[in-house]
Amino acid sequence: MKIGFIGLGNMGAPMAANLVKAGHEVTGFDVAGVIVDGAATAKSAAEAATGRDAVITMLPNGEILRTVYAQIAPAGDKGAVFIDCSTVDVDSAKAAHGMAAAHGLLSVDAPVSGGVGGAEGGTLTFMAGGSDEAFARAAPLFEIMGKKAVHCGEAGAGQSAKICNNMLLGISMIGTCEAFALAEKLGLSAERLFDVVSTSSGSCWSVNTYCPVPGVGPQSPADNGYKPGFAADLMLKDLKLSQQAAQSVAAQTPMGARATELYAEFVAGDGKGRDFSAMIEKLK
Ligand code: NAD
Repeated sequence: MKIGFIGLGNMGAPMAANLVKAGHEVTGFDVAGVIVDGAATAKSAAEAATGRDAVITMLPNGEILRTVYAQIAPAGDKGAVFIDCSTVDVDSAKAAHGMAAAHGLLSVDAPVSGGVGGAEGGTLTFMAGGSDEAFARAAPLFEIMGKKAVHCGEAGAGQSAKICNNMLLGISMIGTCEAFALAEKLGLSAERLFDVVSTSSGSCWSVNTYCPVPGVGPQSPADNGYKPGFAADLMLKDLKLSQQAAQSVAAQTPMGARATELYAEFVAGDGKGRDFSAMIEKLK
């Protein structure tokens, strides 16, 4: 396929590289002038989107996504599939779908989980929203860039799934950190608490696979000085998106709201650039 790829940052560049490796003809564009080996480089987003079967965007936020879509939707070939893999607010995702539809394009919102490691290894999980036809057209590309793609529903459903998941993750990580911090004060060893919780009703991903205590459980950022991993700043971004979405539909998310406050304090303090599991040090 001829693929345009816009936004070649920490995530976008390795994703584009995997498409090149799989034999696709990729044309990239990034305002920072990033170049991906084996891909052609366009001079503008519109040029990257012209004459392509698929156009993928991997951008920082909803405002930038809307600006870029205003440039690329009119440039796209009728029937091309536009796939946005950025994490953005649900309204911006829907706005991007609207612009694509107005120009006769198929579109999918498909945020990812799996981080930079997943982007490099081609093991991302895609959460997708859009029509069956659009999802079917995007699916072969998801297979190259990831290990799993879930079609969550209509336009915006991918972003909705992403922020619900990450709100839950933020809350469960704080809960995990609280439990391990409390255990330490009670004189209970982290290893023994892990042995109990990881096979009990408190078990969750934050404990079992991503334990915030060094030397406990499988290898995690805690064993690497809390180098991300999943940066606290990105967790805060996703929590803020969850609160924006909750407000827009009057949903009650008191724990999500508190998690957002705690991560905002953490990032304003010494949490910026550290893994989100370093929250345990703040609680200690
Ligand atoms: P990044 O900042 O490294 O990359 C974004 C890229 O977009 C940058 O290279 C920037 O120059 C480029 N860009 C900005 N404006 C542009 C424009 N108008 N036209 C073209 N390019 C433009 O960010 P990232 O870590 O690659 O994340 C990208 C998206 O993926 C974000 O929405 C983020 O929330 C999401 N995400 C990131 C991770 C992660 O672990 N990094 C995990 C899951 C999801």
